Amino acid sequence: MAGTPARDAIRAVVHGAVQGVGFREATIRRALALGVTGWVRNEDDGSVRVHAEGPREAVAELAAFLERGSRAARVDAVELEHVGFEGHEQFAVRGVSAGRFVVREHRASSDHFDLLLQVGGTMRSWAIPKGPSMDPAVKRLALETGERAAPGAELESDDAIVWDRGSYEQGGRVPWPQALERGHAVFVLHGRKLRGGFALQRTGEGERARWLLVKRRDEHARPGSDVVAERPGSVLSDRVLGERGASRT
Ligand code: MN
Repeated sequence: MAGTPARDAIRAVVHGAVQGVGFREATIRRALALGVTGWVRNEDDGSVRVHAEGPREAVAELAAFLERGSRAARVDAVELEHVGFEGHEQFAVRGVSAGRFVVREHRASSDHFDLLLQVGGTMRSWAIPKGPSMDPAVKRLALETGERAAPGAELESDDAIVWDRGSYEQGGRVPWPQALERGHAVFVLHGRKLRGGFALQRTGEGERARWLLVKRRDEHARPGSDVVAERPGSVLSDRVLGERGASRT
């Protein structure tokens, strides 16, 4: 019985003149050509961080490329460590906005929050009866409510306010929109109230599929908090929707 090919996973931090010079893009091209999966992101301190996994020789070749740098880049040092496999199916850019997100509080027959994520040219939407949470121990039911055109998502009315909004990054091991189609999508929100990693996990099929929205454990998580109660009001107008219905507890 043939053994599985030797595989390796590395995490690299590349220091030098490596941002804004095409190094990240060159790294993606090289990783794709080598059949390596993982991700690359520009860090705030000017370095570039890379996670790469795949056949040992291919990963070693990518590591050698990182040491060498691309044409316009100057690599001063590379910190390299072997890490565990994360199971990526793509080599993706991290830290780059995928579009807008909006959370509206909506008074209807039953009060709820609407989460809208821009995916391509439309907004995918979920109705969340109890609203989002920043506590990773809390799972919030989210009912898929389909797609709508991007304009209009940020409109307020007598019975709806924009509770939060901002940009978001697609994350996880599976590319979007396949991640949504498979029912497990990881993303990072950059809002006023909602920040850091979140996951949407589908728990049932159907036209109005049931999902769970869960805050991921990261530096933005706030165990024990109730952000909906603590920070009511519109991020556009500071307006607070009137008395809350009995449906929310
Ligand atoms: Mn709604």
